[in-house]
Amino acid sequence: MLTPELESETELAFEGALRPASLAEFVGQVKVRGQLQLLLTAATMQGRTPDHILFAGPPGLGKTTLAMIVAQEGNRPLRMASGPAIQHAGDLAAVLSSLVPGEVLFIDEIHRMARSAEEMLYLAMEDFRIDIMVGKGAGATSVPLELAPFTLVGATTRAGLLPNPLRDRFGFTAHLEFYADDELEQVLSRAAVLLGLDIDKAAIAEIAGRCRGTPRIANRLLRRVRDYALVYSTGTAIADVHAVRAALELYDVDELGLDRLDRAVMQIILTRFDGGPVGLNTLAVSVGEEAETIEAVVEPFLVRIGLITRTPRGRVATPAAWQHFGLRPAAAGSM
Ligand code: ADP
Repeated sequence: MLTPELESETELAFEGALRPASLAEFVGQVKVRGQLQLLLTAATMQGRTPDHILFAGPPGLGKTTLAMIVAQEGNRPLRMASGPAIQHAGDLAAVLSSLVPGEVLFIDEIHRMARSAEEMLYLAMEDFRIDIMVGKGAGATSVPLELAPFTLVGATTRAGLLPNPLRDRFGFTAHLEFYADDELEQVLSRAAVLLGLDIDKAAIAEIAGRCRGTPRIANRLLRRVRDYALVYSTGTAIADVHAVRAALELYDVDELGLDRLDRAVMQIILTRFDGGPVGLNTLAVSVGEEAETIEAVVEPFLVRIGLITRTPRGRVATPAAWQHFGLRPAAAGSM
C-alpha cells in the first residue's frame, strides 16, 4: 500500500511529467506561442536576457509551464518564487541578490506580493539594481546593489490588481485563454499515453467537453477516469465513454464541466436572487468564498460558456443558465 505522502508525490511527479518541455510541445495558445517565440529568438540572436514577461489568466491554463519553457528554451536556470511568500522587501532582496546572470525568476501570484517588495521590483526590473536600507531610524542609509541581468516572469490570475508601474515594466503581457475542445483532446491523448490508459476518441472528447477549458482539470479528470477503469474493468486500464460518464458523475462533474463551486454560485444567483443582478461581494459571502476566487476562477468560465453576464449592477443569469438548471424565473413562474 502507498502511504498518503507517497501517493501525493506520485501525483505531483505525474504533473511534472505532463508539463510540455518546449514551445513546440505546448498545445494551443497559438498567438501567445508565436509572440513568445519571437521574443525569445530575438533575445538569443542579440545575446541578451529576454524582456520581462507577464502571464495572466485563470488557474491551470499553463502559466507556470510557460515560465519553465522560457527558461528551458534559452537554456537558462530557473528560480521559482511565490507572491504570498514575499511579505517584506527583504524577502525579495534576498532572492534578487542571489540570481546568476541570465537567470529566469518566476514569481507566481505576483499580485499578492507586499507593496514594499513591488516598489523594489520596479528598479530591479528597469536597471538591474536595488537600494538596500542599512541601519534604522535617522541613521539609516540606502546602499545601491548591482544585480545580475535576469528575466522576470510573473504569473497572475488578476492582472487588474497589479499597479500600473509594475505592469508597464513587463516587455510582454500574455493573456491566456481557455482551451478549445480539440486542443484539450490533444492534451488528454498525450496524458493518456503517459498514464498507460487505453482510451478511445469518444471518451477523450467526453472529458474534453467537461474540463472547464482547462488542461489541469483535464489531466485531473483523466486520472479519475483511469481509477474508475482500473477498478471496474477487472484491473485493466481501458476506458470508454460509459466509463467516463460514470466516473465524472461519481465526482459531481456535470455535462458542462461545472464543479461544486460553479454550481453553488449559479444556484445563489438563480434561486436566491431570482437571476440577479448580484454584486460580487454578496455572491462571495453567500457561497462562503473569497471574492477574488469568485472573480478570478469561477466567473471567467461561467461568462465564457454563456451562463452569466456581467453588468455594472452585478452578475446576471442568462436564459441558458435557467435552462441548464431546469429552473424558471419566479416572475415567469407566477404568470
Ligand atoms: P497555471 O500555472 O496557469 O496554473 P500550469 O502551468 O501549472 O498552470 O499547468 C497546469 C497543468 O496543465 C500542468 O500539469 C501542465 O502540464 C498542463 N498544461 C497546461 N497547459 C498545457 C498545454 N498547453 N499543453 C499541455 N499541457 C498543459
